[in-house]
Amino acid sequence: MLGLMQDWPLLVSKILDHAAINHGNREIVTRTTEGPIVRSTYADLHARSRQVAKRLQMAGVKLGDRIATLAWNNTRHMEVWYGVMGIGAVCHTVNPRLFPEQIDYIINHAEDSYVFLDTTFLPLMEALGDKLPTVKGFVLMTDAAHMPETKLRDVICYEDWLAEADSDFIWPTFDENTAAALCYTSGTTGNPKGVLYSHRSNVLHAMLANQADTLSMTSTDVMLPVVPMFHANAWAVAFAAPAAGAKLVMPGPKMDGESIFELLDGEKVSVTAAVPTVWLMLLNYLEENNKELPHLNQVVIGGSACPPSMIETFEEKYGVEVFHAWGMTEMSPIGTLGRMNAYTSSLPRAEQLAYKAKQGRAPFTVEMKITDDDGKELPRDGAAFGHLMVRGPAISKSYLKGEGGDILDADGWFDTGDVATIDSEGYMQITDRSKDVIKYGGEWISSLELENVAVGHPEVAEAAVIGIAHPKWDERPLLIIIRKEGTNVSKEDILGYMEGKIAKWWTPDDVTFVDEIPHTATGKIQKLALRATFKDYVLPTA
Ligand code: ADP
Repeated sequence: MLGLMQDWPLLVSKILDHAAINHGNREIVTRTTEGPIVRSTYADLHARSRQVAKRLQMAGVKLGDRIATLAWNNTRHMEVWYGVMGIGAVCHTVNPRLFPEQIDYIINHAEDSYVFLDTTFLPLMEALGDKLPTVKGFVLMTDAAHMPETKLRDVICYEDWLAEADSDFIWPTFDENTAAALCYTSGTTGNPKGVLYSHRSNVLHAMLANQADTLSMTSTDVMLPVVPMFHANAWAVAFAAPAAGAKLVMPGPKMDGESIFELLDGEKVSVTAAVPTVWLMLLNYLEENNKELPHLNQVVIGGSACPPSMIETFEEKYGVEVFHAWGMTEMSPIGTLGRMNAYTSSLPRAEQLAYKAKQGRAPFTVEMKITDDDGKELPRDGAAFGHLMVRGPAISKSYLKGEGGDILDADGWFDTGDVATIDSEGYMQITDRSKDVIKYGGEWISSLELENVAVGHPEVAEAAVIGIAHPKWDERPLLIIIRKEGTNVSKEDILGYMEGKIAKWWTPDDVTFVDEIPHTATGKIQKLALRATFKDYVLPTA
């Protein structure tokens, strides 16, 4: 017997309809690529997105066509995002920080028919334009007054193009399993792979994001997503904020400490989200300029492990609560978030901090388990660690065009490539990426935990740990350090500081100092490049 409830497909256009009807005056504030800060509302966004949708249909764009964006977090990007998805075309957010060869690869792989770009990325497209045969037009997201000189072929001025349509448009209805958005993983090994979200997965994930134990945005919140719309679905914010009616503050191209502070302070931002490297810049700026954060309540930190020292600084010095989150592009991307639960909220502060440093608990619709090399499930005791496996309605079942083959096991679990523990309260803690873990004889050493402890030293700016081949022990850890400016911390100082904070047999065999640690397009330490740099390194213990 089937239920007798209405057939109301979960389409992302419904999110925007809801925002416009119920929170129409709520603002979207943007630092534009042109410079000035501009204001609009959800009602404006609703109208302009339908205008984009109508104009796209006039250009012949149909259900399933891929449309690329190369753009910062700004209002125009939101209009194109909803306009494209609203007609059942696929919004392909291209990460401009990928290498040009990767950008060329993914636009061709996705067979994008138009590219919408901020003027910042014009030089990039001028260099690649002739290698992108599927692209019929490059729409520069600016007005006629700001159109730059360019030799790029088939250039269109966004505002002129848009003015050829009006907003008298009704969203079409189609199957909720229709593809809505495409985001490539950054491809640290091999080519980037396309993660293809559906309308259903995006709507369900927006609801997951707004669960009270997750991002939990409300209509009184002011959200500043520093995390870009081109990185892992903007951590759901571009859907979850309008669904909640939260005011949105979009940072545009400027993500340095001073620019972010100006928006946090000026717009009275209550909640914000970004990777640790962004927060490092902000915390430095606050310290150097003696600034406070009186309006901010919550900061969500994820994408890479958040060092416990960062959590303490935000909470103790600035009175801002930190939530550590974990996820991945394939998970839309939120997997866990570390709010206190009934048990942990009653613990003494020091014990709470240990829980806060973990990556957090799974919201409803994320299933999670850890397994050994034979696929056997390991206990949830906070000690056993193994391969982190996930299942859920907003998690990939395969990549675009079947790249990478079958990615689920026989029971439908996806291997995240992370190694983790899960404790009896359900808190998951990443110990490493499976390919970065240091294999010491039969044991594993977590490079992440060593890095977290090392950056706690007041004279350390950044730390990375890699395994170096060892004649007796397989691999032993090498600690690579960037000193804070004006300091001269030594190997002995650092190892002395780490003593007692880690198991003795985890102690790095050597410490080396560098000026720079390479990062991926999404702010993660590039272990592959570090391993290449140090491939001939001989440990003093070897
Ligand atoms: P990209 O490489 O494009 O950034 P993802 O955002 O999908 O791709 O990266 C997902 C991976 O990032 C996870 O599998 C995990 O290894 C790492 N990661 C994300 N959040 C955290 C976190 N809070 N702590 C540790 N690692 C994290």
